[in-house]
Amino acid sequence: MPRPIKVSIHTAALAHNLDVARRHAPNAKVWAVVKANAYGHGIENAYPGLRDADGFGLLDLEEAVRVRELGWAGPILLLEGFFTPSDLAIVDKYGLTTTVHSDDQLRMLETTRLTKPLNVQLKMNSGMNRLGFSPERYRAAWERARAIPGVSQIVLMTHFSDADGPRGIEHQMEAFERGARDVPGERSLANSAATLFHPQTHAAWVRPGIMLYGSSPKGLEVPASELGLQPTMTLESELIGIQEVPAGGTVGYGSLFTADAPMRVGTVACGYADGYPRVAPSGTPVLVDGVRTRIVGRVSMDMLAVDLTPVPQARVGTTVTLWGRGLGIDEVAASAGTLGYELMCAVARRVPVHAN
Ligand SMILES: *Cc1c(COP(=O)(O)O)cnc(C)c1O
Repeated sequence: MPRPIKVSIHTAALAHNLDVARRHAPNAKVWAVVKANAYGHGIENAYPGLRDADGFGLLDLEEAVRVRELGWAGPILLLEGFFTPSDLAIVDKYGLTTTVHSDDQLRMLETTRLTKPLNVQLKMNSGMNRLGFSPERYRAAWERARAIPGVSQIVLMTHFSDADGPRGIEHQMEAFERGARDVPGERSLANSAATLFHPQTHAAWVRPGIMLYGSSPKGLEVPASELGLQPTMTLESELIGIQEVPAGGTVGYGSLFTADAPMRVGTVACGYADGYPRVAPSGTPVLVDGVRTRIVGRVSMDMLAVDLTPVPQARVGTTVTLWGRGLGIDEVAASAGTLGYELMCAVARRVPVHAN
């Protein structure tokens, strides 16, 4: 029998969350961002829930091809663009839309013969200083892209560093408007946080990712439930052992947890090799038989321990929910000092995934 751990992907919740994005940006087309294997959900599992999107955004050519092979005939956007001239042949073959953020990419485009019209998102570095042309050089880059035979539509694009934080987006909006002034074309600016919190960024396209997966870009500060988002991934396992720990007994590697009174401790078939964060401390919330309790001691590679005090009915085989329905991934992430993004993306290949 396989280990009892599994991930369930909730197709209807993905569709619901896409709808939330649409309601926030009713006049924009939506790139559903499915990079990192749909934030760990599996492209093939997420696709049925997200197929009402206007396009799919991702990074890997291999993932782009997978989306095409699922039957998607609409736009597919490479968020980092292509890396080599041979990538361009695949972009051309599969009719992908590519980000262009550098002179090197422009050079490759100028020296490659395409067989069909290529749509481009020309990226400006409006202040994040990761990818893109500076506002000062943006117009020249656009002129150069436009002169390339085969380049068809050019969408003007940038990305925000602080749409989820106190600094906000104004400084980047100002840089973008300055660099893109008088440059014609549709605009594409907003990630999830900007889609939710900065309507002035919506423009022709929005590019939500994390919100589609039911996690809040502001974590617990603005909980996902308050945003009307539903969990799309439930990570579940079972108790595979139960220990009666005496007062003074310790649990797990490093003896990080000490029972101050006799207690029942359950051992769960889920560890950091499954993608559960090793840094999650004692006290991180978990559901046992639907009852909220806490993990105790250090997370090991294949197992972790839970306090069964509030769950007297717990037995070997009782269901344990690590995150998802009934326990928001953002709560677990906050306890581990990270974000829902990282937990979703880190679910290990060895964990079987079912869509429902
Ligand atoms: C990942 C990404 C997004 C989506 O970001 P979320 O914060 O997950 O909504 C949008 N645009 C670009 C360029 C990205 O890389």
